[in-house]
Amino acid sequence: MDGAVDELEIAWRQLSFGQKVTASLPHLAAQALADGHDSPALRELAGLGVRDDLLARRLLPLVLEELDRDLDRAPGGWGRTVPWETAREQFEAGLVDRTDHALTAVRRDLAEIGGTVGRLTLHWAGSYGDDGEPHLLVGFDGEPCRGGGNPAEPLSGRDLAEWVLSLAANTQEAVMELFLCYWPTCARHRRGLHLHDSYANGDDEGERGEQGWPVWRCRAEGGHLVAPVGGLGTGSPTGA
Ligand SMILES: [Zn+2]
Repeated sequence: MDGAVDELEIAWRQLSFGQKVTASLPHLAAQALADGHDSPALRELAGLGVRDDLLARRLLPLVLEELDRDLDRAPGGWGRTVPWETAREQFEAGLVDRTDHALTAVRRDLAEIGGTVGRLTLHWAGSYGDDGEPHLLVGFDGEPCRGGGNPAEPLSGRDLAEWVLSLAANTQEAVMELFLCYWPTCARHRRGLHLHDSYANGDDEGERGEQGWPVWRCRAEGGHLVAPVGGLGTGSPTGA
């Protein structure tokens, strides 16, 4: 009998569509063990308490993979994705805050080419990294950028500044790949700008961005700071 494993798979599909799951995942896992299924992640899931909801949802795809369930994921790529607006409810509040803050900052910088690329959107790939963070991909107008030859890299970063840096870098790459244009550019030199974390500026001590906050720099004429990420259009100092 595969009943409990089927139910676990159904729960995973519901979560992937951003739906609420009412079944208890540890309970289903315990039932699957009793039915004769076994895997390390299944045992771990079965041992979780009711308060370990988040951990249970993170374990679920691993459990199903260990039980040889096909989760429709393209090998090495990204299968079906869930819009950030739908998926966000199931993530930790800190991550949601960080992500919304980063989105606001990068969308502000994108405004000048918004007519060309559309609205920056985020997409959950339905899986988590080793650090427990969800795999989030950038896209435009609800269409995720999956990467050309290689699958696109999901966002990464331990704090807000790194998260913003990662989102800006991924967006820059996606713009180049999908729209074949460089973004952003220096208005003075008409050259593409480069991202730096504010510690890596090096050449001109007086022009550092706010500590830890990533900045856009131009490499023309020995290099100069253009704006912090989120401040391109306005010249305002931070995305805060
Ligand atoms: Zn310049």
